[in-house]
Amino acid sequence: MKKILVANRGEIAIRIIKSARKMGIKTVAIYSDIDRNAPHVQFADEAIRIGENASNKSYLLGSKIIDEAKKMDVDAIHPGYGFLSENANFAEEVEKNDLIFIGPKSDSIRTMGDKLAAKDAVKDFDIPMVPGVDSAIDNIEKAICVAEEIGFPILIKAAAGGGGKGMRIVNNLEELPSQMERAISEATSAFGDGSVFIEKYISSPRHIEIQVLADSHGNVVHLFERECSIQRRHQKVIEEAPSSILTPSLRKKMGDAAVKVAKSCDYLGAGTVEFLLDQDLNFYFLEMNTRLQVEHPVTEFITGVDLVQEQIKIAKGEKLSFNQDELNIKGHAVELRVYAEDSLNNFTPNIGVLETYRIPEGKNIRVDNGFREGMEIPIYYDPMLSKLITYGSTRMEAIELMIEAINNYKIVGVETTLPFGKFVCEHESFRSGNFDTHFVNDYYSAEKLKKEIKEEARIVALLGLKIYLEDQKKLRIPTN
Ligand code: ADP
Repeated sequence: MKKILVANRGEIAIRIIKSARKMGIKTVAIYSDIDRNAPHVQFADEAIRIGENASNKSYLLGSKIIDEAKKMDVDAIHPGYGFLSENANFAEEVEKNDLIFIGPKSDSIRTMGDKLAAKDAVKDFDIPMVPGVDSAIDNIEKAICVAEEIGFPILIKAAAGGGGKGMRIVNNLEELPSQMERAISEATSAFGDGSVFIEKYISSPRHIEIQVLADSHGNVVHLFERECSIQRRHQKVIEEAPSSILTPSLRKKMGDAAVKVAKSCDYLGAGTVEFLLDQDLNFYFLEMNTRLQVEHPVTEFITGVDLVQEQIKIAKGEKLSFNQDELNIKGHAVELRVYAEDSLNNFTPNIGVLETYRIPEGKNIRVDNGFREGMEIPIYYDPMLSKLITYGSTRMEAIELMIEAINNYKIVGVETTLPFGKFVCEHESFRSGNFDTHFVNDYYSAEKLKKEIKEEARIVALLGLKIYLEDQKKLRIPTN
C-alpha cells in the first residue's frame, strides 16, 4: 500500500494522514470549494477538488471520489467517520473497483448499519439485549401490544438511526400514537427509511462501548471500554477510558460479548460495540459502529495502540501483532469534543470566524484539531472544531489536566463547549464517577454555568486587585 485517499475532512482527515505518514504511505486529501485551503488539504501530500460545498455535492459523492482515486493511482480509501464511512454501497463500489476499503467488508456494514438487522445477527451469540421487539413496527395496534408487554417508559427508535436522531421516549399509552407518528416521519426525513422499533427505556443507563479489532486471519481482540455517558441530545460530548464503574470481571464479560458481536458479522478492522449499562450493572447490546469512532484517542492513550495504524495494517492483510493477554490498561484518558456550540443557549451551533484560536500544549495533552486562527467555520458540516484529550496516571490527574487545558484553550469569535467541559470536570457527580446519561438534564443549566463564570470573573478581579494593592505597597516610596 503506497497511497491512501482520505475521503473526509477536518481533524479526522489530519489524524489519518499522520498515521499513514508514520508508515511511509503517501496521502491524497479531497475537498469541497470552501475547504480549498483547509488544514487537512495543506497537510496531505496531494489534494483533489471533489465539488461544491454541500456534502451531497462533495464529500458524499462516492463514485466521483472513487474515479479520482483511480486517476491518482491510489491503493486504498480511508473513509474516517461520518460521511461515507458507514455506507455499505460505497464500500462495495470501492471493492469492485479493485481498491481497498480501509474498514470492514460491505456486508458487515450493511448488517450492522441497520439496528434491527444487527439485533438479528447477534441473536444466536448469547448477547444480552434491551427488552423490546426485533422487527419493524408500522402500526399503532402492534405498538400498543408491545408497549403493554414491556411496560412504560418505552423508546421508539429508527432502524436506520444515527447521531441520536429519530428517537422518542414515550411515558404512557396516551402519548403513544402521536409519538409513533412523529418518529416515523422523523426517520423518513432523516434516513429515507421510516422503519421504527420499540425498546424498553432504560431509566438511568450509562453508555459503555467496547473497542474491537479484527484481522483477516480470524483474530479478534477488544481494547477495553470507553465511557460515553456525558451526552446532550443523545450525543456524546465527553468520553473517558477506562470507565470508573467497571470491575475487572464486568470488563471481561463486556469485552467477550463485544468480540462475539464482531464475530457474528464476520467483522474486519476497527469497530465499536455499544452497550447500555443499567443501575444494577446489567449490560445490553445497543448497536455496532463499523468505523473508527470520534472518541478513539482515549483508547489509544490507555493502551498505547495506534488504532489508525492497526486499521491500515489489517487492510493490508497483516495479522494483529498482539493478542488479548498482551493488552493492558495504563492510566486514564478524558476527551472533550470542542464543538462550535453555545453551551449557554441549549447547545445551538454557533458559526463564525475564529478571531483568536490557540490550542493548549503540553505533556499528556493531545488536541486532534482541524482549524486555525482566522478561519471561518463552514455551515455545511459538523460544527466540531477539535477534540481535546488529556491523560494521567489516575482519573483525577486526567480530569485536573483537562481543566488546565480548557483554561489554556483560547477561542474568540465563536461560542464553544469548552465552558461546559469545565463545568462537567468540576462537578462533584462527574468527579465521583457517580453519573449516567442524564447528567446534562440532572445537573446542568445555562444559569448555573453563567453563575460559575460570574463567580470566576469576581475571583479573578479580586486577585487582580490584591496584586495591585501589594504592588502599590512594594512600590511606595519611603517618606523619611
Ligand atoms: P444513535 O445510533 O442515534 O447514536 P444509539 O442507539 O447509539 O443511537 O443511542 C444513543 C443514546 O441514546 C445512548 O447512548 C443512550 O443515551 C440513549 N439510548 C438509546 N437506547 C436507549 C434505551 N433503550 N434506553 C435508554 N436510553 C437509550
